[in-house]
Amino acid sequence: MRTPIIAGNWKMFKTVEESLAFVEQVKGKAEVAGVESVICAPFTNLPALVEAVKGTSLKIGAQNVHFADSGAYTGEISGGMLKALGVDYVIIGHSERRAYFAESDAIVNQKVLAAYKYGLTPIVCVGESLEEREAGKTKEVCKVQTEAALQGLTSEQAAQVVVAYEPIWAIGTGKSSTADDANEVISYIREVIAAQFSADVAAAVRIQYGGSVKPGNIKEYMSASDIDGALVGGASLEPDSYIQLVEGAK
Ligand code: PGA
Repeated sequence: MRTPIIAGNWKMFKTVEESLAFVEQVKGKAEVAGVESVICAPFTNLPALVEAVKGTSLKIGAQNVHFADSGAYTGEISGGMLKALGVDYVIIGHSERRAYFAESDAIVNQKVLAAYKYGLTPIVCVGESLEEREAGKTKEVCKVQTEAALQGLTSEQAAQVVVAYEPIWAIGTGKSSTADDANEVISYIREVIAAQFSADVAAAVRIQYGGSVKPGNIKEYMSASDIDGALVGGASLEPDSYIQLVEGAK
């Protein structure tokens, strides 16, 4: 059985104070037995958040990591630094990072390997652009991105990865994929992982849908056979909405 996982991707929102106020409001509420609840916050907020969620079931994630252990990489943060803070998850290869910060599939793979080196669980984002979808390339794009991201992992590592299928045209646009369409692509990603590793690994990997998920549509996604949760941007910023998303993932 795959444990459903809701991850809030706060992107570049919230100060330390605002993120602590959020935790106060969701504590005990965005904690539902049988659902994993992860808040992926800006680097600046991570130490305070890790402290604030102690004694709760809430987990904390970063939104990026550098692939090197250390070095002359001005402005970057390593996996070791995140692990030392007590962070559990890290989003890797979000389409915004691929688009605005030139993260290639090869860099995404290096970052995934770095995450495992430091005991962090990667949430690896894959997904097609509108142009690619219209050209009928959705599955091909997801295959190439998934295979590249997971290259070099052991089966044990691959089984723990969280993949987030996020069609780029659905992110922050209010245009979400239908649950059926998302489920079809996600089942296909599972087949790709089965071919790359094994059927057992593919059956264990959790694959989220992401892109304009809201309290009003979470249940639809969760009722699909292959969707194991959601990576949520906009709707994860308000405590009440986040609580409803976690409740909806039961
Ligand atoms: P959205 O963002 O929920 O605001 O569409 C999703 C994401 O970027 O992970």
